Amino acid sequence: MNRVAFVAIASILTQRKVQLQSAGDSRHIHYKLKSREEHLADALLNEYDVIIVGGGATGAGVSLACANRGLKSIVLESQDYASGASSKSTKLVHGGVRYMQQVFQLSEKNRLEKLQLVAEALRERSNFLSMCSYLTQDFPTLIPCTNLFDLGYYYFGSLIYHCVYLYYQTGGHTFKPPRIVGKEEIQQHFKFAKCNYGVIYYDGQFNDARMVQELLVTSSLKGQNMANYVEVKGLLKNEQNKITGVQAFDKIGQKQFQIKGKCVVNATGGWADNLRLMDDPTVSKRIVSVAGSHLTMPQKYGSHSWGYLIPKTNDGRVLYLLPWLGNIVMGTTERKLDNTISDPTVSKEEYRWLLQSFCDEFAIDESEVAKDGKSKWCGVRPLVYQSNALSTKEVSRTHEIEVSKSGLISVMGGKWTIFRLMGEQTVDKVQELIGNNKKRLENLPKLVGDWTQFDNKKEIQDMMKMFNLPQSYAAYFLTTYGDRAYDVLKLVHEKPENKESLHPQFPHTIGEILYQIRYEQARKPEDILFRRTRLGFLDQNAIFNVYEKVFQIMAKELKWPEKFQKEFLKENFEYIRKLEF
Ligand SMILES: Cc1cc2nc3c(=O)[nH]c(=O)nc-3n(C[C@H](O)[C@H](O)[C@H](O)COP(=O)(O)OP(=O)(O)OC[C@H]3O[C@@H](n4cnc5c(N)ncnc54)[C@H](O)[C@@H]3O)c2cc1C
Repeated sequence: MNRVAFVAIASILTQRKVQLQSAGDSRHIHYKLKSREEHLADALLNEYDVIIVGGGATGAGVSLACANRGLKSIVLESQDYASGASSKSTKLVHGGVRYMQQVFQLSEKNRLEKLQLVAEALRERSNFLSMCSYLTQDFPTLIPCTNLFDLGYYYFGSLIYHCVYLYYQTGGHTFKPPRIVGKEEIQQHFKFAKCNYGVIYYDGQFNDARMVQELLVTSSLKGQNMANYVEVKGLLKNEQNKITGVQAFDKIGQKQFQIKGKCVVNATGGWADNLRLMDDPTVSKRIVSVAGSHLTMPQKYGSHSWGYLIPKTNDGRVLYLLPWLGNIVMGTTERKLDNTISDPTVSKEEYRWLLQSFCDEFAIDESEVAKDGKSKWCGVRPLVYQSNALSTKEVSRTHEIEVSKSGLISVMGGKWTIFRLMGEQTVDKVQELIGNNKKRLENLPKLVGDWTQFDNKKEIQDMMKMFNLPQSYAAYFLTTYGDRAYDVLKLVHEKPENKESLHPQFPHTIGEILYQIRYEQARKPEDILFRRTRLGFLDQNAIFNVYEKVFQIMAKELKWPEKFQKEFLKENFEYIRKLEF
């Protein structure tokens, strides 16, 4: 789509919003989204400015930045969107208090680089929350202190973190300054806490896999294409050895095809070296894969609104306990891997370390806590290697954009918080490479479902009345889909059977799953169970109960042949079984 057409569509959408607001009408805008098959049909007809390989945070960020410059792009993801690191993060939108601490330790190397890293991430933290208010929030985190020296140390540390944020902030969401809290207030949130006082500082939090979805949906509405389960198997080059496209394989349709593009962006995270080596077999590897594990525990072990940071565990690492979607997420560990693997499991050692660190902090019996575990998961952080780094703690968390002689643009490292910046900087390189100088259309593009300008409480009340929903369910739909919640609920109410609940403790219904299949490209039960909904991260027992039901809904909607169903069910149910405690 050319820029004129794109601007026309954007202005129609904006006008529609304004009309609805001024009419005082319910804000239901119907978003016309393409199916996976429609995106793939487009891929065969188009020649793209940019082919983005990898559908995680980085690829989705590049896609949005392309839309913002009027470039035409396609995202190709070999598994499901966000199935790599981007659904398995700690879910923090942060500058990194740990790196801030390192800035002030004289024994640390590259302290200036670390300060820049924190400053950059703190600026992006504000941008992130203001781009997508419905999936994000700021929240207080407690650093417990047992003596006055620690209280002073952590208070001034947090104050400097806040001052760096104020100094570098260029707009966006605002965060509160740190404060000191006493025992009484702490006990209201953490009944097991032993400390007499502590420091509260603020960071952001989000729903990572849903954020990738929202980024892609926004890009799609701005004319970009995307398809999951399409693996890039090779690079097409011309006689001058310049990249002209990719050889792709559609794992669902079992078809090999070529896609033409002026340039290829390698946003494959932990797998970035594979594409770099495909381009030039003589390059040295740059990615260090570090696995990080988390446990999900019931809310009784923490607070529903405060995080808790254990600043020094028995091996010197920090450990977070964070409230997330009604549970407590505990993490993370760091374990260097020889290779990046798709689904690393939480090792026994990591599981023990997480439980032990928690129980040491709160003096709770480990056997009691162990039986309460609800879910555990592990992701691979793709760090960019510098030859002088001695340990993974020392490998820089910064990102790097490399352009090869044949024009492969590899964007490596970084973190979720700075996805927008990584996307914009990558597209700067794209424009240099393809000789395009279109300017950004918006400084900070809002995601499609953003509803900040409305009164959230009223919106929830309206939705409760309109669809006869309990408050928590209305809040779930609005904080998951933003504006699109109305489209989802319309489908839920279209037929009586669509209202059938998936699990009594969760708000998901058959209609919502149909929406995720039709408009969010869910193609396997785990896409629904782990990334469209977050059931697998919240309660692994629940997914054993609902797996077959989800499978049946998908088989009917996607018209899976019977033979295929049997093989698929066997293979994929075994995958889920591996997750059992
Ligand atoms: C345990 C852990 C905790 C973290 N916590 C935080 C946090 O709290 N806050 C924060 O800001 N950051 C955090 N991060 C970092 C953040 O999650 C990552 O930096 C980010 O998700 C990386 O995104 P990505 O898109 O580069 O990689 P990925 O999400 O891994 O995506 C790469 C994608 O490329 C696909 N792919 C690979 N090869 C091909 C191919 N040939 N064809 C097509 N597709 C291909 C893969 O399937 C994959 O989906 C954490 C990371 C980990 C591991």
